[in-house]
Amino acid sequence: MAKYRLMSPGPTPVPEKVLLRMADTMIHHRTPRFRAVLKGVHEKLKKIFQTENPVFVFTSSGTGAMEASVTGILSKSDKALVIRGGKFGERFGEICDAYGIETVDHEVAWGEPADLSAIEKLLADNPGIKAVYSTLCETSTGVANDIQGIARLVSATDAVLVVDAISGLCADDMRTDEWGIDVVAGGSQKGVMLPPGLAFLSLSRKARELAETSDLPGYYFDLKAALKSYGKDDTPWTPAVSLIMGLDSVLDMILEEGMDKVLARHARLADATRAAVKALGLELFSKRPSNAVTSVKVPGNVDGLALVKKMRDEQGVVIAGGQGGLKGRMFRIAHLGYMDEYDTIVAIAALEIVLKQLGSGLEFGTGVAKAEELLS
Ligand SMILES: *Cc1c(COP(=O)(O)O)cnc(C)c1O
Repeated sequence: MAKYRLMSPGPTPVPEKVLLRMADTMIHHRTPRFRAVLKGVHEKLKKIFQTENPVFVFTSSGTGAMEASVTGILSKSDKALVIRGGKFGERFGEICDAYGIETVDHEVAWGEPADLSAIEKLLADNPGIKAVYSTLCETSTGVANDIQGIARLVSATDAVLVVDAISGLCADDMRTDEWGIDVVAGGSQKGVMLPPGLAFLSLSRKARELAETSDLPGYYFDLKAALKSYGKDDTPWTPAVSLIMGLDSVLDMILEEGMDKVLARHARLADATRAAVKALGLELFSKRPSNAVTSVKVPGNVDGLALVKKMRDEQGVVIAGGQGGLKGRMFRIAHLGYMDEYDTIVAIAALEIVLKQLGSGLEFGTGVAKAEELLS
């Protein structure tokens, strides 16, 4: 029997006391008792998002918040700039396509961060752009984009900046108000340490004004309805009550540790993971690595699909493989959410064992020693 260790960039492990809170008695959502919980959640989410803006809670996976950031704020003849540097940047483009929004694309090679001078030029060449869609951590490549730099460029225009921070939230620093980010999307099953099923969306005043006049079709993710309910600490439809109870507990945990310390812990684990895989002679895939997930190139003599499968089936360590064209050529180890030093050390130890089984000539302990050195 191998103990199950979830080290993927979503879903991530859920703390035991949060699991217990979600097992509590079901309560009705149109009651003062539930509204008190939601009111607390709304206030605490603002701290996690580093904003004074309202943060809406949707019952959906993270993609629901991404979709709402298109259908809820854009209008029929609007044009959007989409930064595509992986599967999730591309998803914003697909959502725009689905609703007939014309896009200007910044194509970024997978593994590279968005290029600020290219974005500056696209903004200058296309003065009518209404919104810029970017990803904080592009989970498919392990890249953290320079959101502060992108925000500086976008704030010199009339466009709003939308950031998919679904995997980056709590791992990569993102100062929503200080950097001037209008819209931030989050999700429950990554750094927020909950099961899948909730999505979050913060909206600046400018974005809320766009929401009031948006005329794209849509119903479930209607931001006008969400805005009306938010003021009453309510939701338009039945929310995932148990997940929101869990959210209440998990936000307390995060705020008790403190956002600065949460971010520092992720940075430390990410740093140790990167150093350990490099000590094993492996190469990082990302040119600007995120603190949520470390993406690593599969060495030429190793079967990348077998590596991920053996980690999971024989070692009990669930990591992620490469997506799209990177299948078999990359693997991704997360250090996201409910994780500490020993999770990282175990992941590296299991990686050494599996690499050796697959014919790699490494010496046992090389990666683990590096991780221990950096984490002690
Ligand atoms: C996980 C993730 C999403 C959302 O995926 P869902 O499956 O809809 O929760 C979006 N963007 C990024 C960067 C992600 O990592």
